[in-house]
Amino acid sequence: MHDAQLIIFDCDGVLVDSEPITNRLLAQCITNAGWAIDADYSVKHFKGRNLHEIHAEVEAQIGQSLPTLLEDYRRICYEEFEQVGVPAIDGIHELLDALDAMHAADPAAPHRCVATNAPMRKMRMTLTGSGLIQRFAHPHDHARQTMFSAYQIQKWKPEPDLFLHAAATMGCQPEGCVVIEDSTSGVRAAKAAGMQVIGLAALTPADSLLGAGADRVITSHHELVHELASRS
Ligand SMILES: [Mg+2]
Repeated sequence: MHDAQLIIFDCDGVLVDSEPITNRLLAQCITNAGWAIDADYSVKHFKGRNLHEIHAEVEAQIGQSLPTLLEDYRRICYEEFEQVGVPAIDGIHELLDALDAMHAADPAAPHRCVATNAPMRKMRMTLTGSGLIQRFAHPHDHARQTMFSAYQIQKWKPEPDLFLHAAATMGCQPEGCVVIEDSTSGVRAAKAAGMQVIGLAALTPADSLLGAGADRVITSHHELVHELASRS
C-alpha cells in the first residue's frame, strides 16, 4: 500500500457505513413485494452487486413484474440518508489523515479515488452525510473527477471496467493500484483488473473475501493506519 500510485476505495462498507441501512431497507421493499427476506439475507446475497441484476432475481422469485421496486427502494434510502445521515466507517478519517501526511512529506505518495457500483447521486449523498466528500477533491485540480460510478460507464463490478476506468482517468497503471473492498464482487473486479486488493472484513467474512481473491484482509482501517505510521 505504501508503494502504490493510487488507492481506489469502494464506497459503501469501506468509506460509509451504509450497508446496514440499505440492506434493511432493501429487505423491507422485497418483503413488501411478496418475498419475505431479512437484512441478513440481503447482506449475504445482494451486497456489492448490481441492483438491476438483483431486481431481475426478485422478479423471477416472486413471478411477477415489479416496475417500481428500485424506485421505491432508492426513494426510502435517500430519505433516510438525508434525514438520519450515514456514519463514516470507523478509522477512515484517520487513514485519510495518514495518507495526507504521507503526501505532505512526499509528492509521490499514493493518490486516492472512489469507485462504486452505486449511482453518483447516492455516492455524493452518503459521502456528504458522513463528512467525507471534501476529502476526495483531486490533489492538483479540484475540478477533476475522483469519484467514479458504474452508472457512468454502464459496467458494474465484478467486471473490471470501472476500476480500469478510474485508474486510467487518474493517470495510473493497474499494477500501481491498490483497491480496498468489502464485497466479493468488488474483490473479483479488482483482481480481474490486475490490481492488488485489500479486503475489509465486516459484514462479509474474511474467508469469503480471501476466497474471491483478496491479497490480504484487514478487519479495520486502523490496521492500515498503524502500518503507514510504522513505515514513516
Ligand atoms: Mg462495498
